[in-house]
Amino acid sequence: MSEGAELSLSETRDSGWHRYRWRILAIGFAVVVSGLLTGGLMLGGSTRTPHAAAAVVRPPLAPPQPLDPVALEVRRAIAANAAVRQGSAKGRLVALTFDDGPGPYTAAVVTELRRLKAPATFFEVGEMIPAYRTLVANMSRWGFAIADHTWSHPQLTGLPSAKVTNQLIWTQHLITKITGKPVQFMRPPYGALSPRVRTLAGRQGLVTTLWSIDTADWTRPGVATIVARALAARAGEIILLHDGGGIRSQTVAAIPTIVRRLRARGFHLVTLPQLLALAPPRFHR
Ligand SMILES: [Zn+2]
Repeated sequence: MSEGAELSLSETRDSGWHRYRWRILAIGFAVVVSGLLTGGLMLGGSTRTPHAAAAVVRPPLAPPQPLDPVALEVRRAIAANAAVRQGSAKGRLVALTFDDGPGPYTAAVVTELRRLKAPATFFEVGEMIPAYRTLVANMSRWGFAIADHTWSHPQLTGLPSAKVTNQLIWTQHLITKITGKPVQFMRPPYGALSPRVRTLAGRQGLVTTLWSIDTADWTRPGVATIVARALAARAGEIILLHDGGGIRSQTVAAIPTIVRRLRARGFHLVTLPQLLALAPPRFHR
């Protein structure tokens, strides 16, 4: 190979490098320029935005807030002096409700429900709550609805009105104090109802709530029987179970199967406030 050939090769290499260098410089320049432009536009945008916003004429009043559907249905039920037994079939919703807690089995019930991501409502006996304050606060924080099952579980229909009111408001106030949330539902012990009891509950802003499916789990009929009774539920129904008032190991054991089989049938589990808002109930007097 001649020197000239080598030279020309090296020249070629050099001129190629020069071309690349220029190309690289040109690309670098373009990147810097576009960066500046973008930055400038962004800066321009951020400096112009307040002026543009200031030019917008704001309405003198904030738009009306949408009315809370739960509060609306609560008012409707109270106005009708009615008791809620079940929701409508809309949306294939089912509500699991647990009475007579909090107690030694409540944490186990809650653990099962949380593991299954299954919402539920707990009707609590006021005098039991102080021993389980942290659990009750957590249950509310975890999305369970906490409701009023009176202070000491008496038959309300046999009590004078002042005592009925106290039974309800003591529990209502304690739950609100612990959870920071209003209590809108009460269930009378033994399902014992009268128009007077409903009126007294309504005066405290409480909807009287019963159930449409009774598992009678408190009689401890066996896990399979509790499951079978719960699975009789149709869309919109309220299922009665117990987390307190005695040994509830059968109820705890029944929960996973109840939840899975209800879901397998296309039902969605909800709390009572959700049932009331999404599938407004028929009233039962
Ligand atoms: Zn009860």
